[in-house]
Amino acid sequence: MIKRTGQIHILSINCGSSSVKFSIFEISGSLDKKNLLLNAGRIFSGIIEEIGTKFGEFHFKTKGKKDFGKLNFKDHSEAINFMIHKLGFNIANLNISIVVHRFVHGGDEFRKPIIASRENIVKLSRLNELAPLHNPSNLKGLEIASRYLPHAKQVCVFDTAFHRTVPLYARMYPIPRGYYNRYKVKRYGFHGISYSYINNLLSLNKKDIKKLIICHLGNGASICAVKNGVSVDTSMGYTPLEGLMMGTRCGDIDPSLPFILKEKLNVSCEELYDILNKKSGLLGISQKTYDFKELLTYSDENSKLAFKMYIYRITKFIGGYCAALNGIDALVFTGGIGENSSLLRKEVCKNLAYLGIKIDDLKNKEASEYFNKFDCHGKIKIRKSIKSIGIGKIPVFAVHTDEDVQMASEAVKLLFYKKPAAT
Ligand code: ADP
Repeated sequence: MIKRTGQIHILSINCGSSSVKFSIFEISGSLDKKNLLLNAGRIFSGIIEEIGTKFGEFHFKTKGKKDFGKLNFKDHSEAINFMIHKLGFNIANLNISIVVHRFVHGGDEFRKPIIASRENIVKLSRLNELAPLHNPSNLKGLEIASRYLPHAKQVCVFDTAFHRTVPLYARMYPIPRGYYNRYKVKRYGFHGISYSYINNLLSLNKKDIKKLIICHLGNGASICAVKNGVSVDTSMGYTPLEGLMMGTRCGDIDPSLPFILKEKLNVSCEELYDILNKKSGLLGISQKTYDFKELLTYSDENSKLAFKMYIYRITKFIGGYCAALNGIDALVFTGGIGENSSLLRKEVCKNLAYLGIKIDDLKNKEASEYFNKFDCHGKIKIRKSIKSIGIGKIPVFAVHTDEDVQMASEAVKLLFYKKPAAT
């Protein structure tokens, strides 16, 4: 199906727990339902980091020009206001007609993208307790963008939505059955916008992939098992703390440990939550850094152990999902670490040779060099975002993920191809 639209400008806003990322896309002419954003170009982008700390920074980029500075932001409101002011002239001129917001948690309610009606905003604010580090800042972004761009359609896209297809036996925790309905305790999964993007990208370019494992490895990290284009299991759960070891998050631990630690450390639940979310993972073990790239520069025993544990846990999950899927057709690495670190991919795949997964050292290194310099400005380079690095029976890919492109695509689909549920 092809629709003619004229020129559209879309602003995507992606609020993390301590950052705000944005992109502005320009789409001209016709929209092809399948290849939605192939004809789009990214004309502005930026990131504001370390919000709420003394190390605030902003990086903005427009055609060939970069703007960088150090500035502290008290909270997300200050950061988003700053971003909008920086963009002021361009926003006024571009006549942005769609703003798309990333929401980390959609709970049970939101399983597809929605238009932010008043009723939906009330429902969204009830989800804050499910993702206290993320959803309140997502709502703040929505509130500020609605104020500055009152005529634009505000669309919300959810990270949990891609995992709505996970079957009950993988979604449930083996705890008393009633908690599932009463407290909505179940495995929601996250990074769904990235997984949707990778899944779409591969289905456009590699037609014969039915069973796939995607490793999204950034500061937060998770793995997803995909079958026939839908998620059938993923490593994060009720919150983004479950699953892999991450930059500062512990991932899977014995569920008794929090009770034991609480007593031994004599700390409150809140302090314990903070330890498991912000002081564990690579940082907790290395005692030096949460940052993977920086970790690789250290050679002390704790840093080496942190690296080994990180790799080991990813390998275990891949093995588990291969079994759950009864074999796979492809393995994908994405996210800041998955795209850029050839060492990580090499080490993870070392123990997967028996599955037919083998990496070509040269292609693997070249992929990292390529993604280290990858420029996602200008025309969206869908086909150039995939690098094949395998030489075994099972293809292995390093793929550049682009959540903003996926968000914009979903907004366009909702507004141009489906009847919106509410306005
Ligand atoms: P976020 O979850 O915050 O979006 P990213 O996907 O941007 O995170 O990934 C950030 C991680 O990627 C950091 O740990 C960083 O050190 C790592 N990273 C970035 N570039 C490289 C590289 N060249 N080699 C190894 N790790 C890298």
